[in-house]
Formats: sequence, structure tokens, C-alpha cells
Amino acid sequence: MKDLEYHRKSRIATHIASLPKSGIRDFFELVMTMEDVISLGVGEPDFPTPWNIREAAVYSLEKGHTSYTSNLGLLSLRQEICRYLKSDYKVEYDPKTECLITVGVSEALDLAIRALINPGEEVIYAEPCYVSYASEIIMAHGVPVPIACYEENKFAVNPADIRNAITDKTRVILLNFPCNPTGAVLTLEQMTEIAAIAIEHDLVVITDEIYSELTYGDRLPTIASLPGMRERTLFLHGFSKAFSMTGFRIGYGCGPADIIDAMMKIHQYSMLCAPIIAQEAAEEALKHGMLSMEKMKAEYRERRNLMNARFNNMGLHCVKPGGAFYMFPNITSTGLSSLEFASRLLKEQSVAAVPGTAFGKSGEGFLRCCYAASMADIIESMNRIEKFIQQFK
Ligand code: PLP
Repeated sequence: MKDLEYHRKSRIATHIASLPKSGIRDFFELVMTMEDVISLGVGEPDFPTPWNIREAAVYSLEKGHTSYTSNLGLLSLRQEICRYLKSDYKVEYDPKTECLITVGVSEALDLAIRALINPGEEVIYAEPCYVSYASEIIMAHGVPVPIACYEENKFAVNPADIRNAITDKTRVILLNFPCNPTGAVLTLEQMTEIAAIAIEHDLVVITDEIYSELTYGDRLPTIASLPGMRERTLFLHGFSKAFSMTGFRIGYGCGPADIIDAMMKIHQYSMLCAPIIAQEAAEEALKHGMLSMEKMKAEYRERRNLMNARFNNMGLHCVKPGGAFYMFPNITSTGLSSLEFASRLLKEQSVAAVPGTAFGKSGEGFLRCCYAASMADIIESMNRIEKFIQQFK
């Protein structure tokens, strides 16, 4: 005990003390203090949760459903999820042993990495990426191995770069396509190559499919459904984005029983179960929420088209994203760094967008703009950004 105290610099565990805070949060603390800001910042749907889903939550309370559920989650919800994945994703899971309901995809990611990684083992993931990935890996005492994705490649990950990053410590490839923050999707060829690499090196693939419904072209199959992949893929998904249910905090993991069982061990000790009211609402979303989801998606598509055209027309090159609700324009022509651009845009034009570097080093030179905002706000923010960049021409 004395030795431990002697080596410590503070009472906070070393790997947590050195963990950076999310760049997005810092930025939005500042935004909250300002008035009349148009925010293209937080990655959250602007639609209210469809009424029938909210009503299911109200009804759940009225029925007095206020207890714990099974640690795995309500069996009826797990059955509904497995039915949905079979029909829409062409991959079959046993609801009794291969599906775990979690508190958002956030918890599912945490459980997955903790269940799969020994200290010092490596997780390969594509970057720019969701702000949590590197920190989740570090919190599990793993080693993050980011692979830069490039604009020239429409921000898809190059399978050859994954192959080159593999060492004898690599255990997991973590994928998120459609991607936050770039909106990138993979081609079937890229996905097939990644699957072959995973099989060759006996790796587990974690696929974070949180944006998969929000794909604007042809929807690709999940990597879990490719030959030889079901037994080595953990499919993570949830209700936050496509069903506009961020505050309900429901996600899930589906995969081989041994991985789900390991995740479940951590979940039962740390979380016990996801809230029953939200689980019942999620079941309603899958049973009767598809039409509402399609309507929201149609709106996102319109907004995407408009925002993408506006960025390119004003001279900020912008890849047309294949999915999610983010635009990732290139701002290097202004000579500003991502952080300078975002800070000055906020100060001079009261538009909040996130510097690309919040999503990893390879986000330098880009800005993340979320188009889960009203059309009026999108148009006004585009006018303001156009005005802002005039000074750099
Ligand atoms: N994964 C990605 C790629 C995300 O963008 C987000 C949220 O922004 C999450 C996971 C977390 O989602 P949840 O609300 O289900 O915890």
C-alpha cells in the first residue's frame, strides 16, 4: 500500500488522470454561455421522439412497470431486436444467449472492449472517429491504434492500412460506418477485404452500426452477415439516432454467446439492467416506429443535399456523406486550423460547429457540421459561414 502511494502523483488513477476530456464538451460549455448561436454542433436528432414511442413509455409507467428487468434486458425486446436484425440485416441471433440490452451504444462499447481486451492489447479503428473510442480503449488498459482515413478516399478506411497496423497484440478491429464525424460509408469490396483480414488474423470485429438506418444510398449488408464473420463479429446498435431517442439510453449488442456472456458479467455488476420504461419504448419503436424513422430520414436527406451543395459552392470542398447526419467540409483553403476556424466562426458569426481535431489528429483541416437542425437554421448558418470565409479569399 505504501509503495503504491509512493509511486502515485495524485489520488486519481494514473490512466484516468491523463485521459483528455472530450473536445466537444469543452466547446459546448462555451456555446451554452452565448446567445443567438446557431448550433451545428451536438450529434443529436432535432426531432422529438415519435409520439407512439413516448406514449409507450407513459403507458409503461401507468402500468406500474418500475422494476428491474432481467440483466440481459426484456426478453420481448431481445426477440424484437433479433427479428429486426434477421429481416433487415440478414444476420440471425438467439435472443436468449446472443443479445444484451445496454444503456446506449456507449455502454455496449465499454462492455465490449473491457470484455475482449487484456492490458496492453491493441484495438485498431478508423479515424476521424467518435470521441469515445480512444478513451474507452485506454480505460480498459488497451492500446488505441488509429488508422487515418482520407478525404481522397471519401473518408472510408483503406483495408491495406488496417493490414499494415496489425501486430501480435492486435485483438479487435472497431468499425463505425456510416461514420461519425465524416458520414463515410464503406463499399462492399472494402468491407469484404476487412472481413478477410479479420479471419486471416483471427480478430474480433466490433461494428458500431448506430447510424446504419441513416444511409442515403443503397444500404450495404453488415459485416456480421459476410461469410465467416458472424462468429467473430459483435454487432452494436441502439435507438438514439434513427428513432430520435437519445435520452432513453437504450442500445444493444448481438454476437457470439461467449462474448455476450462476458459483456453480461460486467453489465450485471456495473449497471444491472437498462431502465424498463425505456426498454418498453424501444420495443414500440421497432414494432411501429419504422414509418416515423423513414420520414426523419427523408428530411435528413434533403438537408444533406442542401448543406453539401452550399459548402461546395462557397469553395469549401465537401465530400457528399453516404450516411449519418454530419458534413465534414475541408477548411484548409482559409489557412486556419480547425480549432481557429471553429472558434472564430463562433465569435464572429455565432455559428457553432466542431473542430475536426475533436475526432482525432487526422481531423485537422476539417469541421464537423451536424445537419440534424432545421432547414431554416441550416440555410442561415450556411449564409453566415459564406460571409465568414470571404475575409480569407
Ligand atoms: N457510437 C457513435 C458512432 C456515436 O456517434 C454515438 C453518439 O453520438 C454513440 C456511439 C453513443 O450513442 P448512444 O446514445 O447509443 O450511447
